[in-house]
Amino acid sequence: MAETKIPYKIYLSESEIPQKWYNVRADMKNKPAPLLNPGTHKPLTAEEMSGIFCSELVAQELDNETRFIEIPKEIQDFYKMYRPSPLVRAYCLEEKLQTPAKIYYKFEGNNTSGSHKLNSAIAQAYYAKKQGLKGVTTETGAGQWGTALSMACSYLGLDCKVYMVKVSYEQKPFRREVMRVYGASVTPSPSMETEIGRKINAEHPGTTGSLGCAISEAVEVAVKNPDYRYVLGSVLNQVLLHQSVIGLEAKAALDKYNVKPDIIIGCAGGGSNLGGLIAPFMGEKLRGEADYRIIAVEPASCPSFTRGKFAYDFCDTGMVCPLAKMYTLGSDFIPSANHAGGLRYHGMSPVLSQLYADGLMEAVAVEQTKVFEAAEEFARVEGILPAPESSHAIRAAIDEALKCKETGEEKTILFGLTGTGYFDMTAYESYHEGRMNDYIPTDEELASYAAKLPKID
Ligand SMILES: *Cc1c(COP(=O)(O)O)cnc(C)c1O
Repeated sequence: MAETKIPYKIYLSESEIPQKWYNVRADMKNKPAPLLNPGTHKPLTAEEMSGIFCSELVAQELDNETRFIEIPKEIQDFYKMYRPSPLVRAYCLEEKLQTPAKIYYKFEGNNTSGSHKLNSAIAQAYYAKKQGLKGVTTETGAGQWGTALSMACSYLGLDCKVYMVKVSYEQKPFRREVMRVYGASVTPSPSMETEIGRKINAEHPGTTGSLGCAISEAVEVAVKNPDYRYVLGSVLNQVLLHQSVIGLEAKAALDKYNVKPDIIIGCAGGGSNLGGLIAPFMGEKLRGEADYRIIAVEPASCPSFTRGKFAYDFCDTGMVCPLAKMYTLGSDFIPSANHAGGLRYHGMSPVLSQLYADGLMEAVAVEQTKVFEAAEEFARVEGILPAPESSHAIRAAIDEALKCKETGEEKTILFGLTGTGYFDMTAYESYHEGRMNDYIPTDEELASYAAKLPKID
């Protein structure tokens, strides 16, 4: 191995875990657009929001000015169970690719939930507990967010009601059972327990559900029960704020060795891991202190950034949620049934959407067979079996490293490895058996969904 000066893993000490979250909105000239009331189309007030989210989180959602927000001691203590997460120099991958590029990845899969989502789950559960609530409601698709939230709630003694997309509930029983280990109640969505669930079941008999529909159910239950609030694992400003621990740790580790990344890459579903990873780097870029290429990687079958519209849209199918201005494919959009690689949400974080609209970051869409090819190449040399979502970032990192091989440039690449893929083996199976294809929606299809975007003036 050429260099040994930089270790394979750069660990921080416990005392170097961030004590404050960094709020990138404070440094944005163009702030993300406010959430709108779906009825009046007026910006949602703190009071209106407080029926859905607990008050401290409402304050964080609306705070576009405070640069650093103190992480409560209880949350810092919880972080110590699984943080700091390692920053790994991918020497073995570099060797395999024969690239002059230097590749680093920040690995967030080192906890039982298997992803970065625990960073925000514990924060959201903590504030709910502090407010004296009985519990929280949420939705989950494949189950990573529900798992993370169940862990956080059981730690704090909060009730956790999870609406799980029916097809995942039936086909992915393992994550469902992990949630039950942590004491959550898991209901397949659409259910018959909510008005919206009954309506969707009546209109689409036999439907296997969608994330947008599960969100509507979870919100309805929270709004109707004064002791409960709704929590969401991505998209929201507050979630990006909590996830800034990823970027702050990554930057602190790189700073120890005076390493400056040229390119920062992350997969983008709702945008929370990417928003967290890039936060402190984007802050430097916004303040004119440094420059970085920042790349969001999304599936070609669900291309919100690269082919969506930057417009106000519903966050859910039932249209009970606030409207967010974001890159979106339309709230009815559901990726092809053959799509196994996660990142299937129709919209994107308003913070990242604004940064992308302002030309401060780039986006690429990648096909799922290419994603699984990269996942395997990575697993075989770096050891970690990556989540399909995370593997989108691996794909783009490998592609950038291969470009460096052609040009001879020694670029430094940092990417986010958001989680492990042990619960995604049926997706790997369909890849191995050649059943996976790369369905890419046509322009006509996307236009038909875009035509249904709400008209906001
Ligand atoms: C949820 C999830 C993602 C996508 O969500 P973002 O909010 O875009 O970060 C990516 N990777 C893993 C492992 C996940 O669980």
